[in-house]
Amino acid sequence: MKKYALPAIMLIVFEAVAITLWLTKDNLFYLFNFSYIGISISLGLFLFVRKYKHARRIVQLLVGLYMLVYLGFISQENMQIEGFWYYLFAGVFEAATIHYAVAKIFGPLVFGRGWCGFACWTAMVLDFLPYKTPEQPRKKIGWIRYVTFAASLVFVAALFLTHTSNIERIMFWAFLIGNILYYATGIILAFAFKDNRAFCKYICPITVFLKPMSYFSLFRIKCDKNKCVDCGKCKKICPMNVDITDNSRKRLNGTECILCMECKNACPKNALK
Ligand code: SF4
Ligand code: SF4
Ligand code: SF4
Repeated sequence: MKKYALPAIMLIVFEAVAITLWLTKDNLFYLFNFSYIGISISLGLFLFVRKYKHARRIVQLLVGLYMLVYLGFISQENMQIEGFWYYLFAGVFEAATIHYAVAKIFGPLVFGRGWCGFACWTAMVLDFLPYKTPEQPRKKIGWIRYVTFAASLVFVAALFLTHTSNIERIMFWAFLIGNILYYATGIILAFAFKDNRAFCKYICPITVFLKPMSYFSLFRIKCDKNKCVDCGKCKKICPMNVDITDNSRKRLNGTECILCMECKNACPKNALK
């Protein structure tokens, strides 16, 4: 039963968040929203423990589609980074701001970049592409993420500074157009660099939050040096070029780890925990 502790803990944590927000904000939506996400993640972890090979993809689809289709398209909440800036500037601690606080800013202190491995709707599509393991060396163009991050901030700040009317409507269109651009760029880059996660490595503005916070993550994969035989299979299969055999926080590309567990599954000596 001990092996089911993690799915159970995740469910309890998400239920605690769901009930707290429901009661403090007096809004039933939060109970539904965080319960749904918590159940989806716990189900995925449960399936992972049961060694079901598509466990992560199932969570990605359950959470990613819910956020993209229900929250984004139907409820018209901009959950992209522009939506975060918008609600932040508007002083509203709701949907996108709470989402960012939980999944992308403070949450990574506990579960690292679990969002990127299990829930992101951009990666949900990119992970269907053929280059699950990068076929080319990493490029030195990660600085682009700071440009996209700054561009999103300047875009929303300009709307507020110029007192543009109907910003909420603009945010909805920004969500639609932003997602089309993300998918198009992500797919083109994946084929150009033969790497499904090229968008995540070089372009995604959210990594400006995710990387520094996940550096301090409580949950991280560690290598048992007594079991490891240096076969290199974990490094070869890693979609993010992480050197997971180094247990220090300064491991190569350590803040890129998306907790996909491909390395753990590939390890012939069960050295990764
Ligand atoms: S890096 Fe960005 S696009 Fe990639 S999975 Fe994370 S949040 Fe999604
Ligand atoms: S180190 Fe392992 S868990 Fe992290 S991204 Fe690479 S394969 Fe996935
Ligand atoms: S796959 Fe396992 S045994 Fe091989 S290098 Fe990685 S941790 Fe060590």
